[in-house]
Amino acid sequence: MPARIIDGKAIAAALRADAGRDVASLPFQPGLAVVLVGDDPASAVYVRNKHKATVEAGMASFEHRLASSTSEADLLALVAKLNADEKIDGILVQLPLPNHIDATKVLDAIDPAKDVDGFHAVNAGLLASGRSGLVPCTPAGCMRLIASLGQNIAGKHAVIVGRSNIVGKPMAHLLLAADCTVTVAHSKTANLAELCRSADILVAAVGRPEMIKGDWIKPGAIVIDVGINRVPTPDGKGRLVGDVDYAAALPVAGAITPVPGGVGPMTIACLLANTLAAAKARRP
Ligand code: NDP
Repeated sequence: MPARIIDGKAIAAALRADAGRDVASLPFQPGLAVVLVGDDPASAVYVRNKHKATVEAGMASFEHRLASSTSEADLLALVAKLNADEKIDGILVQLPLPNHIDATKVLDAIDPAKDVDGFHAVNAGLLASGRSGLVPCTPAGCMRLIASLGQNIAGKHAVIVGRSNIVGKPMAHLLLAADCTVTVAHSKTANLAELCRSADILVAAVGRPEMIKGDWIKPGAIVIDVGINRVPTPDGKGRLVGDVDYAAALPVAGAITPVPGGVGPMTIACLLANTLAAAKARRP
């Protein structure tokens, strides 16, 4: 039997609608500030989509577009201003930042209570120690996709391929908190195919097109494909694929997220959920 396809688009739409209803019931309007430095085309698309979703949910969206030549000091001054602005509940600095700016320094300058990306060291520490804080949006979205299957995942072996601070590591903490037995793999991991075959839940967050083959997947496994990779096509437009060979995985997995339409839409929906949570915590 082919895998159940996890419809991230529909699940994200429901979450966004919930956020919109919640916003409408509040006595104030939550505000999200998004800062974009430079003109990376992919970042510009993400920022545009975030703005659109924020406004659709009834929140106030404040966009700050800065030239790629902006100094670190000027960016830090903007973050300080946004931290102090009462209208703003969430601050997101779009990554990547230009090379002359220390991204860690900027992320750690954001007020942790407004850190809706969940990348601040305080929020990362809270997650790692099993306490509540703002959780990074992409892994939070992956957990919602897994939860949508309604399966008991306690005791399951989860393998995460990728150990970045924005996906792999927070995903490991979330799955651990859900009582999975977690293995985190990376570029130095030996026998990766064999390790993946032992996974009841396989999360791919690598950034390598279709690296994970059909015969790396345990029959019936839940496969969450975080990867977004553009590969060339004869018409020159290119197409998006994940880190998993989807066609080969489909007949083997128990459930799988497509690319596009799986994890991607969840990231923005969880950003709205985080902004709402930050607003409620700040303005009780
Ligand atoms: P990073 O480049 O920060 O991390 C990639 C990870 O993959 C690293 O830990 C790296 O290992 C590991 N890796 C690289 N090559 C191999 C290999 N051959 N075998 C095993 N592990 C390997 O990427 P991100 O975590 O930021 O993103 C991962 C993917 O997810 C990308 O395609 C990105 O576009 C996508 N993404 C999608 C989002 C969404 O909204 N759907 C949001 C964020 C990311 P090492 O640490 O040893 O170098």
